[in-house]
Amino acid sequence: MEVILAESAGFCFGVKRAVDTVYEQAEQKKGKIYTYGPIIHNEEVVNDLEKKGVQVVETPEALKGCKDGTVVIRSHGVSREVYELLQEQGIAFVDATCPFVRKIHRIVEQYSLEGYHVVIIGNSSHPEVEGIQGWSYNKTETTVISKEEEAEKFSIQGKKRVCIVSQTTFNNKKFKELVEIIEKKGYDIIVLNTICDATQKRQAEAKKIASQVDAMIVIGGKTSSNTQKLFEICKKECENTCYIQTLEDLDFSKLWSINSVGITAGASTPNKIIEEVQKNVRNEF
Ligand code: SF4
Repeated sequence: MEVILAESAGFCFGVKRAVDTVYEQAEQKKGKIYTYGPIIHNEEVVNDLEKKGVQVVETPEALKGCKDGTVVIRSHGVSREVYELLQEQGIAFVDATCPFVRKIHRIVEQYSLEGYHVVIIGNSSHPEVEGIQGWSYNKTETTVISKEEEAEKFSIQGKKRVCIVSQTTFNNKKFKELVEIIEKKGYDIIVLNTICDATQKRQAEAKKIASQVDAMIVIGGKTSSNTQKLFEICKKECENTCYIQTLEDLDFSKLWSINSVGITAGASTPNKIIEEVQKNVRNEF
């Protein structure tokens, strides 16, 4: 059986940088290390870090209790309020926000200051989007849109200037569709497609492979938004697409009597897991 592994599968630059930062901090053993939220959507890595003494804190309240150590900000980034809280409380921190996300913070900050209504195309409950929202100077002038219905309903009174950005891991095609709907409303619109290159390449490669194979395996954490999107893209091209977190989830019976299988993985999937899946699929068939 032919096995095609996507070259773009696994850690992207921003995730690798954030994970390496936490491991480096933990190895320095200069006091407690905290991450604000799990460093990546991958239980294995989070558990491994926990064994090295790295603690996950989830809320601003819990952050206040981190004065005895160093907080690592993950690649998703955080709102301006979180930076203010860390500074006010005198808490040491290392910022591993991905530079591509940081760029969106700057855009939102600038355009909201200039009086634009900011539209973020993305999932409102995703930490990256929550962080991006937190850089707008006017919360009532900020809208998060993820679906067609929301884009259709979008309407603003008085002001006509709109700045549209995107969550870095949003589906490129869907972003364009939603922008088109908003563009028809006649506002003065600035569109900044901030979907990151790594995501676009990963999605395009996954789509291409899925269209050529009999079965497709998408590996990643269940809560990983970019892996979910990869799964949706692959499923459209290849009905026999499965979403697994680790090798244990793989149902080999689904791969019987097929000639080719493709493998891709989300940005938070460690290489170890991808290699394990690839090796076992090759050995099994
Ligand atoms: S997907 Fe892109 S924006 Fe997000 S962490 Fe990776 S490199 Fe950065």
